Amino acid sequence: MSNYQQDTICIQSGWKPGKGEARVLPIYQSTTFKYDTTDQMGKLFDLEESGYFYTRLQNPTNDMVAQKICELEGGVGAMLTSSGQAANYYAVFNICEAGDHCIMSSTIYGGTFNLLTVTMKKMGIECTVVDPDAPAEELEKAFKENTKCVLAESVANPALVVLDFEKFAALAHKHGVPLIVDNTFPTPINCRPFEFGADIVTHSTTKYMDGHAVCVGGAIVDSGNFDWNKYPDKFPGLCAPDESYHGVVYTERFGKAAYITKATVQLMRDLGSIQSPQNAFYLNLGLETLHLRVPRHCENARKVAEFLENHEKVAFVNYPGLKSNRYYELAKKYMPKGSCGVISFVLKGGREEAVSFMDSLKLAAIVTHVADARTCVLHPASHTHRQMNDEQLKQAGVDPGLIRLSVGIEHVDDIIKDLEQALSKA
Ligand SMILES: *Cc1c(COP(=O)(O)O)cnc(C)c1O
Repeated sequence: MSNYQQDTICIQSGWKPGKGEARVLPIYQSTTFKYDTTDQMGKLFDLEESGYFYTRLQNPTNDMVAQKICELEGGVGAMLTSSGQAANYYAVFNICEAGDHCIMSSTIYGGTFNLLTVTMKKMGIECTVVDPDAPAEELEKAFKENTKCVLAESVANPALVVLDFEKFAALAHKHGVPLIVDNTFPTPINCRPFEFGADIVTHSTTKYMDGHAVCVGGAIVDSGNFDWNKYPDKFPGLCAPDESYHGVVYTERFGKAAYITKATVQLMRDLGSIQSPQNAFYLNLGLETLHLRVPRHCENARKVAEFLENHEKVAFVNYPGLKSNRYYELAKKYMPKGSCGVISFVLKGGREEAVSFMDSLKLAAIVTHVADARTCVLHPASHTHRQMNDEQLKQAGVDPGLIRLSVGIEHVDDIIKDLEQALSKA
């Protein structure tokens, strides 16, 4: 299957019906699965055979969709989670425990930032936040004896900082730890992090992968490239016996798929953030058109960004596809087909003008979401960062007049017309 182009994988990968079976991926709406003998099911519990027995661990619908995402990213194994938050949590917790340390880019999504710096801190995992644009010598200082992973986003939400993959991968590997990349914004259609040295990829499938704003979900993909056995003392969870499975050693039993197998049979078993098969079905429908939608989001976003950049009321536009953008070259190198459909911009008139502009929009809707088919906007100073005054906002790098615009796949002329009329009233 992996010899096919991505467009074909989007449509055909995953579910392969046999004679007389459903043409479309069935929803296995069943918590449990039947066996003929006690011994058959016993072998599943011992991980001696693979098969389904309880949907909290694995479900065929979910697995077919995970397989599709796995092939799109070029990995060896993948799992779906109930949300993007769960995906990032499991991706880190699979190799970090109390007393361990990880390194994270400062421009990471707010939810992931809180997860690592607040909640996982309470679990005894320490996190150093680094400036992704700092030179390698500076970033080097963040590594410690107990560092277990580096976490960053290929295109940061909402800062739109493009990751210097090779710089980050080289540093992580020099210190014997994997690079985990959240690839939600570009999706594998625009960027495949494994080709640039990332070891693990995560997704909030809630965004472009679903693409229709109907189901919250996440995914983790394992490249199979990180050699855990080279550092057995650093990764005992993968290289030493797991008592909860009669002493199975994941790297011995599952080879290149050790990491993703452990995440499934141990973390999903114990923590249980499974995606519902119904949601996986919707996600699969979204994936079937991902290769058509993503280029259109990018094309529309580039035109909208150019329009805004030339508008007299706009002070600044942030979009990696603009030549004026500081990440233009990095984006061209790692995602030549485009970055994403999200833009941020600042109006010269500041907070008041931003509010009046937003309230005058007719097509673009005010919602807390990005990356679905419909154009939408958010004003961080009035919404996500509402508790901060203008001084605090500036410190957090959020201009009071900043607007986040997620460009949809409507006709671009209609989107621009809507922005134009709202700007004229602002
Ligand atoms: C939205 C988002 C998340 C969180 O995903 P949910 O599905 O909302 O839990 C994580 N990372 C990025 C980059 C996101 O945009």
